[in-house]
Amino acid sequence: LTFLGLESSCDDTAAAVVRQCGTAPAEILSSVVFGQTELHSAFGGVVPEIAARAHAEKLDTCVRDALVQADLTLDDLDAVAVTAGPGLIGGVLSGVMCAKGIAVAKGLPLIGVNHLVGHALTPRLTDGIDYPYLMLLVSGGHCQYLIARGPEDFTRLGGTIDDAPGEAFDKTARLLGLPQPGGPSVQAAAKLGDPDRFKFPRPLLNRPDCNLSFSGLKTALMRMRDQIVAEQGGLTRKDRADLCAGFQSAVVDTLIKKTERALTLYLAESPRNPTLAVAGGVAANTAIREGLMTLCAQLETDFLAPPLALCTDNAAMIAYAGIERFRAGARDGMALSARPRWPLDKTSPALLGSGK
Ligand code: ATP
Ligand code: FE
Repeated sequence: LTFLGLESSCDDTAAAVVRQCGTAPAEILSSVVFGQTELHSAFGGVVPEIAARAHAEKLDTCVRDALVQADLTLDDLDAVAVTAGPGLIGGVLSGVMCAKGIAVAKGLPLIGVNHLVGHALTPRLTDGIDYPYLMLLVSGGHCQYLIARGPEDFTRLGGTIDDAPGEAFDKTARLLGLPQPGGPSVQAAAKLGDPDRFKFPRPLLNRPDCNLSFSGLKTALMRMRDQIVAEQGGLTRKDRADLCAGFQSAVVDTLIKKTERALTLYLAESPRNPTLAVAGGVAANTAIREGLMTLCAQLETDFLAPPLALCTDNAAMIAYAGIERFRAGARDGMALSARPRWPLDKTSPALLGSGK
């Protein structure tokens, strides 16, 4: 099976071709990503209208490049898979319309993919791991624990009740005048800082569930920053480094503690499949990675982190998730609609916290 995948739910326009023959490992024939960071940088966040326009303008070039790099034409495809949500609706619509156009023109099946399923299945694309496994999705827009049992079968154990960690890193960088995206710049500053000088809160840490909260860190940071500025007239390099180190250590502590809870719950029901996989841009953070690796070693669990280019938004994961859904019998015709919200876990709504 050779699938074209399209992704346009946030601020990356992406197209990819993925092939899987029988039970052989899937192969990424091409994966093209056009980032929009510069378009939004002046606004301090993604502007939905600008994003939608950019997706509409870039999708066709992306598709063409993906086919050229794979050395294929539209005639070589077996189906088109597209992110149908959740995300910024204008962007999702651009992708869905583009996919429908190709599917109609070439008489190909059309498969709608949940963006979160794309992330959640990435370790199967990269490492061919078996179901079930525990997935920690940590990105700029999401933070949740999912037990993956099949392409349409997920249980959500918990997640953030407010901001995603990536969002918290980005806000921290903005408050301290560090460059965007905040993750890498805060991590670099934190390396030189003292994590114990400022005491950041660890919200929900002692609640016996798998939910997290990160919005309080921003408020705490703002208070600390304003106090230093009031006392000294400004921030020194050292102040910035210490603030970043304190902030990062609070994020790491919270994530590790809650991952321990989620993993313990998961291992109790699936002791024979001890695997934790991560996806999302925040998984690039060295301190978070090291913390997770140590935790997994203690709990005799395999730790799996796909290469960064496949952890962040891309279309290879969408094409691959499309292949899995297709094999499971899914077909979405022209009635496929774009969905701004699309929770993964339909089976146990009681476990659903917020939509993030
Ligand atoms: P989503 O995929 O949920 O729609 P997104 O596209 O914003 O959201 P990603 O592209 O997966 O998310 O990741 C980007 C986020 O990862 C940014 O918020 C960025 O600050 C964060 N990030 C990147 N590198 C690091 C790092 N080293 N440490 C912490 N955070 C990081
Ligand atoms: Fe994403």
